[in-house]
Amino acid sequence: MVTFLSARDIARIVGEVGARRFWLRLVDELRRDFLRWDAFEKSARYASHSPRGVIELMPASDGETFAFKFVNGHPGNTSLNLQTVVAFGALADVATGYPTLIADMTLATALRTGATSALAAAHLARPGSKTMALIGLGAQSEFQACAFQAVLGVDRLRVFDVDPDAVEKFERNMADYGMTIVRCTDAYSAAAGADIVTTITADKKFATILSDNMIPLGAHINAVGGDCPGKTELARELLLRSQIFVEYAAQTRVEGEIQQLGPHHPVTELRDVLSGRRPGRASNDAITIFDSVGFAIEDFTILRLLRDLALETGVGGKIDLIAEPENPKDLFSLLHPLDAEREEVAPRLKTKQLA
Ligand code: NAD
Repeated sequence: MVTFLSARDIARIVGEVGARRFWLRLVDELRRDFLRWDAFEKSARYASHSPRGVIELMPASDGETFAFKFVNGHPGNTSLNLQTVVAFGALADVATGYPTLIADMTLATALRTGATSALAAAHLARPGSKTMALIGLGAQSEFQACAFQAVLGVDRLRVFDVDPDAVEKFERNMADYGMTIVRCTDAYSAAAGADIVTTITADKKFATILSDNMIPLGAHINAVGGDCPGKTELARELLLRSQIFVEYAAQTRVEGEIQQLGPHHPVTELRDVLSGRRPGRASNDAITIFDSVGFAIEDFTILRLLRDLALETGVGGKIDLIAEPENPKDLFSLLHPLDAEREEVAPRLKTKQLA
């Protein structure tokens, strides 16, 4: 039997653990997995592109546990009352190849993306960064706000979305979180005076959510929405005068903001900053960019954490996902009717033949 976690189970787990404790534990586990980067078998994800979006498969293994995620990205979906991003994922035991967990990852993706963004910002933003601009107030946005509140103590948000309903939804959802929310009329005014600027919009094109003149010296940009070929959010000029940090350069050069730059433009992988091998922010005046596209190790981390927390909290169910014959060499036995059924079926067949 395989453990199954629905989105509702995952929400229950977060509730049982406590949201703040959950965020801190997730960030801590992400940090630990980024630090043992070389233990993982890695590959840039498989992506099947179509005019309306992309479907991706994201595998990672540490030699003990294998993880994969199925995820899409369809920016036009909300006009059909569907989500832009939906996902599910699984863990398997490397020693036997048997699946051990299958889970919704629509919610888990939003959690791990918020946590990875906050982890990067904790190492790259200027100390004392408490004000964040949040541009794009769709499905992912509250998760970013909560992760930054839990990890960096961000307490003031300057928000903007082209869709007024999304702004209202965001304010409603965040009403009890004790953050000051300032509604802005455009991305330019949202970014003004912010220590951190998060862009998390969805549009399958080379968009310019942030142009070069919008960003004050010393800001940290958490660029999350540009995550596949032909889908970006930042002006090239802004990239050229910033320090750029990525999850996995081989994947980000194809999918991230840096697809706009040459193949050898210098970037730093986040794991090297976390381990102290490479410097992070060069000065208080530098502009740092975390060019987030989402990497398979982050999915591995949250799936493993959810598996462990399902055990700790007793939340989740079991499903009969794979065939398990009593004799492992007798898979065919599962096609045989049981003896009792066989007896019941046989006379019926005979009657049919006689007729
Ligand atoms: P969503 O469709 O629910 O929300 C996107 C929001 O952006 C909408 O409210 C839309 O009105 C707004 N928007 C679009 N253009 C805008 C503009 N020019 N200015 C201001 N707002 C604008 O999507 P979502 O699920 O929140 O995902 C947002 C983006 O994040 C997607 O592009 C998705 O692919 C990406 N994403 C990245 C990662 C990662 O790991 N980097 C993970 C998950 C999602």
